[in-house]
Amino acid sequence: MWNILQPSSIHFGAGAASEHDFPERPLLITSKGAKSRGWTEYLKLKNFQIFDQVEPNPSIETTEKIISEFKNENFSTVIGLGGGSSLDVAKYVGYKLEKKKIMIPTTFGSGSEVTKISVLNVDGKKTSFHDTKIISDVAIIDSNFIKGTPKNVIKNSAIDSCAQCSEAYDSKIANPYTKFLCEKAFDILESALLKNDYEKLALGSLITGLGFGNSSTTLGHALSYVYSNEGIMHGHALAHTTSAAHEFNNSKFYERFRKIVKYLDFSEINLSQNLDDAAELILKDRKHLDNNPKTVSKTNLIELLRKINS
Ligand SMILES: [Zn+2]
Repeated sequence: MWNILQPSSIHFGAGAASEHDFPERPLLITSKGAKSRGWTEYLKLKNFQIFDQVEPNPSIETTEKIISEFKNENFSTVIGLGGGSSLDVAKYVGYKLEKKKIMIPTTFGSGSEVTKISVLNVDGKKTSFHDTKIISDVAIIDSNFIKGTPKNVIKNSAIDSCAQCSEAYDSKIANPYTKFLCEKAFDILESALLKNDYEKLALGSLITGLGFGNSSTTLGHALSYVYSNEGIMHGHALAHTTSAAHEFNNSKFYERFRKIVKYLDFSEINLSQNLDDAAELILKDRKHLDNNPKTVSKTNLIELLRKINS
């Protein structure tokens, strides 16, 4: 048996966020750059409150801070605006406060606008929360936001999306519907990246989110978090960890994924932590490892980390 869960409405297209009829009195959750970039005016919100202090790799304390600051305010809806970090915080706050959630990505890769997953830092470790009630009610994907995005942010987000759809295609809990979405998403992302046609990334990222959000990522993501814990960007870590994972799993996407990583020119990564300790930590990540197509032992993990480090 399998189930598909997605926001009850998805609005897609250049200008979709500016043209949307938002409810009055929302709480906007975003990061520092939102006002100076003119994003709040672009949305034409009425009587809104704002929290614009979401940090990269946000911690669960940020969500607790927002909840204690705004829980007695009379707001109607939570709007998340920004990269995956802002959306993960906004979804979690909306879920905890039982408010309607509207998600608007400004970078394209996490797929967070359509998934039931929120990734937050708990005690210095990246932790993913999964709950059907975390999923947003409305997702608005507006490719206008990609204009002016630094190349480095675009490539880190896009490789995350490539990793998500290709890992999810191979996932043990994939089904015909998610496989269809994930394969289509990879085709779109690959062509967008190799032809520098970045506006197409918004579509590839959305379809990836719908695909992996209804199956799961696997070994590549499990391996990446120990690097993120040492400050390496999510996408940058995945460029290497998903490559190694695809090789280990004999994934049909291995060569194509490697080609994209090479084209985007990601620098090498290195883990300072002891590999044995890192492997122990990764082994606890059952959400990702149990869905991997092949069983992964501690020895396999150490070998994979050694390979990535070299
Ligand atoms: Zn990811």
